[in-house]
Amino acid sequence: MTKYEVAIVGGGIAGLMSSIYAAKAGKRTIVLEQQKLLGGRAITNKKQGVYFNLGAHALYKGEAYEAFRELGLRLEGSSPSIDAYGMWKGQLLPIPTNTSSFFQTPLLSLGGKLELAKWFMKIGKMDTSVWNQISIRDWIETQLYDPMLRNVFYALLRTSTYLLAPELHAAGPALKQLQRALKGVLYLDKGWGTLVEELRQLAVQQGVELVTGCKVAAVEHQDQKVHSILCEGSNRIEAENVILTTPPSISHKLVPYADQTALGTWNKQAIPATVACLDVGLRRLPIHEHQFIYGLDQPIFLTHQTREGKPRPAIMSDDGTKLVSLFKYQGPQTDAAKDEDELEQVLDVVQPGWRDELVTKQFLPKMTVAHDFPHIKRIDNPGPTVPEIDGLYVAGDWASHGELVVDASVASAKRAVSHLLNTREEIKI
Ligand SMILES: Cc1cc2nc3c(=O)[nH]c(=O)nc-3n(C[C@H](O)[C@H](O)[C@H](O)COP(=O)(O)OP(=O)(O)OC[C@H]3O[C@@H](n4cnc5c(N)ncnc54)[C@H](O)[C@@H]3O)c2cc1C
Repeated sequence: MTKYEVAIVGGGIAGLMSSIYAAKAGKRTIVLEQQKLLGGRAITNKKQGVYFNLGAHALYKGEAYEAFRELGLRLEGSSPSIDAYGMWKGQLLPIPTNTSSFFQTPLLSLGGKLELAKWFMKIGKMDTSVWNQISIRDWIETQLYDPMLRNVFYALLRTSTYLLAPELHAAGPALKQLQRALKGVLYLDKGWGTLVEELRQLAVQQGVELVTGCKVAAVEHQDQKVHSILCEGSNRIEAENVILTTPPSISHKLVPYADQTALGTWNKQAIPATVACLDVGLRRLPIHEHQFIYGLDQPIFLTHQTREGKPRPAIMSDDGTKLVSLFKYQGPQTDAAKDEDELEQVLDVVQPGWRDELVTKQFLPKMTVAHDFPHIKRIDNPGPTVPEIDGLYVAGDWASHGELVVDASVASAKRAVSHLLNTREEIKI
C-alpha cells in the first residue's frame, strides 16, 4: 500500500490549491474527490453554447486572485461597470455612482447623495478591521443617517457577502469585500471551469495524484495522530497528513469522535449562506442600460455578465448569447417555486420581453455559497489544524479567518499547507 505524505479530501478550489502547494514543497500528495469531475462549486456547465457557472461567479481582487496570479494562471475575463440601479417598489432608479446619475436620480435626497459621495471617497482607504466585532446592521445603523442610503448599503453589503443576515455578518470583512468590489471584479471567460482546468493541469505537472469518483467514508486516527483514509468500497489509503476541504458537517461526520475535537465546535457554529440562482441566455437585451440591479426592498441582485465592458465583454457564450444572472439571497426557510417566480418577475421589470429572447436557462433553487462566514456568534476561527489530532487540517470557504468565499478557500489552503510544512512564513511560490 502506497503511503502519502499529504492526502486531501475534496477536489474543489481549496483541495486543488492545497495539493499544488504541498506538491511544490516536494510532498507526495493525493486528492480524493467524490464527484466524477474536479472543481466542486466552481465547475461550469455548457448548455446550448452558454457557459453557466453554478450561479454568477465574480473574482474579487483578494487572496485568491493574488494566489492564482502567483501561480501564473491566465485569469482572462472582463470587469463589469459599477453603474447600477436600485429596485424599489418595482421601479428602477439609478444609484448615483457618476456625475450624471448623481444629479438626475430621484433615489436619494441631496443629503443622501452627499453622504454617499463621502462614503465612496472614504471607503477605499478605510481600515475595515476596526469593524470586525460588530454586525453589518450595527455598522449601518450607527454610521449612516439617510434612511434610503441605509437601504443602498444593506444591498451593497448583501451582494458582497451573498448573505441575508446583516445582524450576524461581521461588518469589517463585509466592508473589505466592498472595497475590493469597488476596485472592479473579474468575470472569467467561459466561467470558473477554465480556472479549475488550469489548476488541474498545474497539480498534474507537480505530480499530484488526482482521484475522482472516490467518496471518503472516514479519516482514521489513533493516539491523537491521523494515519489513514477509508474510501467507500473499503479502499484504505495511508497518509501522514490529511487536509479536509469538505463542509463542516461532512468533516465532522468523517472523523470518529469529532465531538471531542474542535470539529464539533466548528460544525455547531457554522451558518450556511444560500441563494436561489436564475441564469438566462438571451439573444439580445431588451433594455441595454439595465446591467446591474440591486434590490433595495427585496433581497435580489441581477448582473449582465456579458456586458460590453472595456476593453471587451467577458466571453460567456460561443455565439454572442447574452448571459444575465440573478440571485435571491435566502433566509433559513426557502420555497423553490416562489423563489423562481420572484426572480422571473424581477426579469420582467428589468428586461421586459426577455421570454421572447430566451435561448437557454438554468435555475438552481438552493446553492450554498459559503458553509460558514465571519459572524459575530463565532466562538473560534476554524483551522488550520484540528488541535486534538496530529496531522489533521481543515480548509475551505468555511475555514475563514476573516476572508470571504473563494478567498477563504484559498487563504485556508495556504494556512493548512504552511502549518503542515512547519513554515511560519506564508507560502511563497
Ligand atoms: C451561487 C454561488 C455563487 C458564488 N459566487 C462567488 C463569487 O462571486 N465569488 C467568489 O469568490 N466565490 C463565489 N462562490 C463561492 C465559491 O464557489 C466557493 O467559495 C468555492 O468554489 C469553494 O471551494 P471549496 O474547495 O472550498 O469547496 P467545494 O467547491 O465545495 O469543494 C469541496 C469538495 O469536496 C467534495 N467532497 C465532499 N464530500 C466528500 C467526500 N466524502 N469524499 C470526497 N470528496 C468529497 C465535494 O464534492 C467538493 O468537490 C459562489 C458559490 C455559489 C454556490
